[in-house]
Amino acid sequence: MKQKQYAVLGLGRFGGSIATSLYNMGHEVLAIDINEDKVQAYSNAVSQAVQADSTDEKALKALGIRNFSVVVVAIGQDIQASIMASLIVKEMGVKHIVVKAQNDLHGKVLEKIGVDRVVFPERDMGARVAHNLLSPNIIDFIELSPEYSILEFVATKSMVGKSLIELNIRAKYGINIMAIKSGKNKINVAPMATDVVQEDDVLVVVGHKEDLKVFEGKMA
Ligand code: ADP
Repeated sequence: MKQKQYAVLGLGRFGGSIATSLYNMGHEVLAIDINEDKVQAYSNAVSQAVQADSTDEKALKALGIRNFSVVVVAIGQDIQASIMASLIVKEMGVKHIVVKAQNDLHGKVLEKIGVDRVVFPERDMGARVAHNLLSPNIIDFIELSPEYSILEFVATKSMVGKSLIELNIRAKYGINIMAIKSGKNKINVAPMATDVVQEDDVLVVVGHKEDLKVFEGKMA
C-alpha cells in the first residue's frame, strides 16, 4: 500500500483518534492543535505534533499543509474556527478535505465551501448504537445516503439452516444480501440462492431505510 501523508487539525477525542489510528496503520501524520498540552500528549503518537492556530493561514502555509494528500479538520466545538480552517485548506488547493461537523447547519456551510466529506461522528455513532439496542443480533448500521443503508446482523435462529431462496428476503422485504461472513476470516461476497445460512453467520444486507426498518422490526 502506498503511504499517504495526512494532516489532522484539532486533537480532541475525534481528531486524536484519527491521527493515532492513521499513524498506527503506517502513515505519515502531522497533528496540529492550538493547545500546547494536547500537542505534548500526542508527540509520541504521531509523526509530528505541532502547536499552531489552524485559522492562521500563514502558519498552515509554513507547515506545508498544501502538500498533504488528505487534511482532516477535527475542530468540533469552535464552529467558526472549523469553518475558517476548512476554507483556508480548500483555497490552498488540498486535494481531499474531511471535516467533522457539529450540527446540520455547520455541515451545510462546509458543503458550500466544497470540502470532500462532512462527518457527524456523534450522530452516526448514536444511530449505530440505537440499532444495536433494537436487537442484540444487529451488529452495525451504516448510512449510505439519506435513503439507503447497510445492515450487518447475526443470523437469527429462524434463519439458520435455510437457503437464501427459502428465506426469500429480497421478495419479502425488498432488501439484498450482499455478503455472508462465517467464522473469523471467511466471507462470501457473492452469495447464491442455494447458499445455506449457518449458526453464527453474519449477514450483510443493503436496502431502502423503510424496508430495513420493517426487516429490523421482525428481528427485535
Ligand atoms: P472532540 O469533540 O472531538 O473532542 P473538540 O472540539 O472538543 O472535539 O476538540 C477540538 C480540538 O481542536 C481541541 O483540542 C482544541 O484545542 C483544538 N482547536 C480548537 N481551535 C483550534 C484552532 N483554531 N487551531 C487548532 N486547534 C484548535
